[in-house]
Amino acid sequence: MKELIILSGKGGTGKTSLTAAFASLAKNMMLCDTDVDAADLHLLMAPKIQKKNDFVGGNEAIINPEKCVGCGLCKELCRFDAVIELTDPVSYAIDAIGCEGCGVCVDLCPEGAIDFPKKTCGEWYVSDTRFGPMIHARLGIAEENSGRLVALIREEARKRTREQHLDLILTDGPPGIGCPVIASMSQANCILIVAEPTVSGIHDMKRVGQLAAHFKIPAMVCVNKFDLNPDQGLAIEQIARENNIHIVGRIPFDPNFTQAMIQGKTIMETHKNSSTSQAIREIWQTVMKNPAMKQERIM
Ligand code: SF4
Ligand code: SF4
Repeated sequence: MKELIILSGKGGTGKTSLTAAFASLAKNMMLCDTDVDAADLHLLMAPKIQKKNDFVGGNEAIINPEKCVGCGLCKELCRFDAVIELTDPVSYAIDAIGCEGCGVCVDLCPEGAIDFPKKTCGEWYVSDTRFGPMIHARLGIAEENSGRLVALIREEARKRTREQHLDLILTDGPPGIGCPVIASMSQANCILIVAEPTVSGIHDMKRVGQLAAHFKIPAMVCVNKFDLNPDQGLAIEQIARENNIHIVGRIPFDPNFTQAMIQGKTIMETHKNSSTSQAIREIWQTVMKNPAMKQERIM
């Protein structure tokens, strides 16, 4: 079993469109969308959900008015300003959105007046798509713990990949370098960074590359919309060389990506013979030839 993660330093670089295009080229593959905060791979894959599961990701503090004596200690203690003081009569309540579930008020309330039930923070799904099975998820609005949800769906993707004797997990990762990205990349064979030819694109690629180096995971890069700013595109490639990040190709700016997206398809389906589709095919072949993509990972 091998795993390729497609990442980018920020959203909007074309990461998901490229993942979807790769899905149309891959064989015997499991798709996994770990961009759980802003999942959108499903828009191109039209998954048929086979199984829906709750994600229980933390606890929520709730004051029991029957037991609360209104001492106000919880308001003093809460570092997230999640306890609200109500007037007439003075009483206290917890703002569910502001509560980080740290449990301090629960432990220190002198009356034991704060309940701390588990809370459902989102859902995760097992689906079928026209290219293969897919594991994906949706975190609830303003919910935390996306790193834990990412870890959960990756574990599920691995388990099902093993059971179904599939060869590859193709993962659309979250943007940035935070906790969900770290949860997405552990034990992957390779990372492919999708960079855009801008000043911030250079910075973003470097940050993701450093993270990959830290975890000793080989990194590759392709520059999307290369022709919009060839100077910056070349600068990205130069920095990639200096940082041991393997350059796998360039993708031109192509409005057909948007056209394909509107139809809920990949560009490989709607514009199969275009030069962009050809460039993506070549990038895919180069990625698959990377020696790190040939090693079985212990999972
Ligand atoms: S610490 Fe406990 S008793 Fe005091 S106001 Fe908060 S919930 Fe009520
Ligand atoms: S659990 Fe933590 S964050 Fe939530 S109200 Fe209590 S002290 Fe504040």
